[in-house]
Amino acid sequence: MTTFRADLHCHSICSDGSLSPTEIIQKAVEASLQGLSITDHDSVNAYETALPAAKQAGIELISGVEFSSMHEGVSVHVLGYSFLHTNPKIIDFCKGHQQRRQERNRGILELLTENNMPITEEEIVAVSPIKHSTIGRPHIALAMMKKGYIENVTDAFLHHIGEGKPCYVRGNLFSVQETIDTIHEANGFAIIAHPHLIKESNVLHDILEMNFDGLEGYYARFNPSQNERWISIANKKGWLITGGSDFHGDIKPAISLGCAWAPEETFRVLRDRFEENNK
Ligand code: AMP
Ligand code: ZN
Ligand code: FE
Ligand code: FE
Repeated sequence: MTTFRADLHCHSICSDGSLSPTEIIQKAVEASLQGLSITDHDSVNAYETALPAAKQAGIELISGVEFSSMHEGVSVHVLGYSFLHTNPKIIDFCKGHQQRRQERNRGILELLTENNMPITEEEIVAVSPIKHSTIGRPHIALAMMKKGYIENVTDAFLHHIGEGKPCYVRGNLFSVQETIDTIHEANGFAIIAHPHLIKESNVLHDILEMNFDGLEGYYARFNPSQNERWISIANKKGWLITGGSDFHGDIKPAISLGCAWAPEETFRVLRDRFEENNK
């Protein structure tokens, strides 16, 4: 018998991934995944085409999203699952994020211009494969590459637009608590994404005390001891343990879809709630 595998963390062209939602479904078939969630940054646009494609392909797809939020000035990514993908609270929250991203991107472009690397808003929109996708720093990096300012995306983060670098702008972010509340109002599950990336112990301490439903215990770039640490914390709290690859396609070529996954029992809980919200 093959192990049940559900990759619950990946990105499509609706945010900063390089494959379309239907291409991701195809990849999931090739990777012999049974379950999937597409968790674009601040967008649920993938579901319009992904849901019918998954049904046709025989992949169990549940709704998902990855919201960028903040606690005590530190960036925290929150995964949301199982809400109805057309839920007005989720859609409104995504719209709020698009607005704050537009303002933040303008700030970054101003700094790039001051640093002799002028880029226009039109140029960052032009590198995005579709209209209305979530535009973030990876798109800015691609535009910088296209203009010959840098060799590759990694260089852009390392020298210019990464946290603490001269052209970095954090912008206004929604709080972790507002994010959890929005997901709960939509009857979804709120999960701490890649908890190992939170380096500030006070922030980690605070968010582990919040009303999350689980954490991402299996992640592409974890080593086995990291899995154990997060799984043990989640088990003590009675939290759900999710898992996923954080697949982005070409912008993170080392990570393949399905290289990390959630246990079957977690997937069943998320899927049952998704079905309930779809009734
Ligand atoms: P943003 O959401 O606009 O703040 O951009 C963050 C996204 O940029 C992450 O979700 C990653 O996909 C990507 N990213 C972050 N750091 C790097 C890096 N060093 N190299 C390439 N991509 C990165
Ligand atoms: Zn990303
Ligand atoms: Fe993330
Ligand atoms: Fe992600």
